[in-house]
Amino acid sequence: MRWTHTLIPTLRESPAEAEILSHQLLLRAGIIRKLAAGLYNFLPLGVKSLQKIQKIIREEMDRAGALEILMPALQPPEIWQQSGRYEVAGDTLFKVNDHAKREWVLGPTHEEVVTTLAAGEINSYRQLPINLYQIQTKFRDEIRPRFGLMRAREFIMKDAYSFDVDDESSMKSYHNMYNAYKRIFHRCGLKAYPVEADAGVMGGKHTHEFVVPADTGECEIAFCDVCGYAANVEKADSKIPLSYTPDEAPTEAFETPGVKSIDSLTKAPFNVPAEMQIKTLVYIVEDKPVIFLLRGDYQLNEAKIAGILGTTLYRPAEEAEIKNLLNALPGSLGAVGISGVRICADLLLKGASGMVTGANRDGFHLRHVSMKRDIPCAEFADIRTVKEGEPCPKCGKPLHIRHAIEVGQVFKLGTKYSTAIGALYSDEKGAQKPCVMGCYGIGVTRTLQAVIEQNFDKDGINWPITVAPYQVCITPLNIAPESEPMQLAEKFYSELTARGIEVLLDDRDERPGVKFKDSELIGIPIRLGIGEKSLAKGIVELKRRGGELMPISPDQAVESIVKLVQEEIQKLS
Ligand code: ATP
Ligand code: MG
Repeated sequence: MRWTHTLIPTLRESPAEAEILSHQLLLRAGIIRKLAAGLYNFLPLGVKSLQKIQKIIREEMDRAGALEILMPALQPPEIWQQSGRYEVAGDTLFKVNDHAKREWVLGPTHEEVVTTLAAGEINSYRQLPINLYQIQTKFRDEIRPRFGLMRAREFIMKDAYSFDVDDESSMKSYHNMYNAYKRIFHRCGLKAYPVEADAGVMGGKHTHEFVVPADTGECEIAFCDVCGYAANVEKADSKIPLSYTPDEAPTEAFETPGVKSIDSLTKAPFNVPAEMQIKTLVYIVEDKPVIFLLRGDYQLNEAKIAGILGTTLYRPAEEAEIKNLLNALPGSLGAVGISGVRICADLLLKGASGMVTGANRDGFHLRHVSMKRDIPCAEFADIRTVKEGEPCPKCGKPLHIRHAIEVGQVFKLGTKYSTAIGALYSDEKGAQKPCVMGCYGIGVTRTLQAVIEQNFDKDGINWPITVAPYQVCITPLNIAPESEPMQLAEKFYSELTARGIEVLLDDRDERPGVKFKDSELIGIPIRLGIGEKSLAKGIVELKRRGGELMPISPDQAVESIVKLVQEEIQKLS
């Protein structure tokens, strides 16, 4: 491709709308342009890289035995009602009306559609296992679309769905996809790690996210660099020893004027360490109040409580609701003496005594509180968010916490959707059974940006060769048709193209500095500079993106470039 024949509108400055580096580079390199919040145009360079990622995905999905299909983005709401997700998915579902005012849903994902398809097409165990995938546009009404392609309202996803006869076979399908994902991200030049994750509203329990560690990532992972344990903090656990000094003194109220927080109680004159306090939080879960108790030094983990409650229809209670329930206001809440309400305490509080908690009376707290004696009806569960430095649940060494970008996720779904929608098969004995399902997503457009997030320097993008829009940029410093640099450039261009190398020929009438800067910015992995001065010395200048200039003889240029390209591809195969 000749630069003057394509559209690569590079920008010197970062547009103000871009908050993170990879987003700035997408705009500056002329890869995307914004239409509206969370909606982007892909320009030619963007489409090329996207197509390359999609090709890698297709090759690996096909190799894993999955079958490509294509489902409609527009979906009838009835199937969402059937699966029970119409309410749960709630505000993130884009809904549109047709001319007859009938409502439709713009698909944020396709479990409902694919299960409906399977219900019609699969009827015998002989057809299983089967794995169907598509690469398609998804719509999600994200509360905060941001960071460019990372959190968009319209984005491209590869989604696959497996159907098996039983759990054991479904687990094989899961591992098959897990391994395919590892290969896909490796081939895209992305260091992505599988971490244990929370199943959210998907149903099913077994799931891994593939994440790319990055400070700008919107999820947090806890990991152990000794044994390799890694989990999303929504799910992560730790092994803190429970060591409470027994305190059998009777509870006693004491005055705490003006104290409204855990923190203020840690200060003089009270000096109660946060780990000796019980934090009391009230939530409304599908209309009913639930009290959550945590040690004062921990935060409630909403993803974990969703798993325990089996619903995402919960919210923190409002002051009036709390007052109604506990006859007190936040600041001095406690669960001592409360009955008739579900009380769920974090595991770390099991056996705790000598604790301090609110007295449900403004300006008062209780001390010498024993969980067993004073809050006997509490059930215990893991509801806290782990913190940096806590002992790893597997090996006990300190956990670390980092931000990360989720690029993909694999789920073992079980029979939630197949039962609800009636995707049944008859087994060898003719009995009707629900298919055991799995689902597997990769954010294709998010992956594109994640690759940049992991591969850039001060000059711009440094594409892995497998995802680069072009493998080689030829930069003649004189573009007059009869000049030696341009003639050589044309010769290399046709020879390399004939060898299957993807070449961008920078035939613009620009200063060398501008051309070099642009080719670095758009991140072409290999550059060949051809100038009159160096030609006079019998050389042209080969350069790997981010590497040193390599003077070579023009006779060797084509072979050297082909070899370099092959080496780079080899590293990522
Ligand atoms: P997140 O937690 O980031 O909202 P998710 O867990 O809801 O994502 P999935 O339903 O697992 O997303 O979708 C599969 C993949 O689609 C994700 O791993 C991610 O790469 C991508 N994805 C999800 N939401 C978006 C979005 N709003 N914009 C771009 N890509 C997205
Ligand atoms: Mg996910």
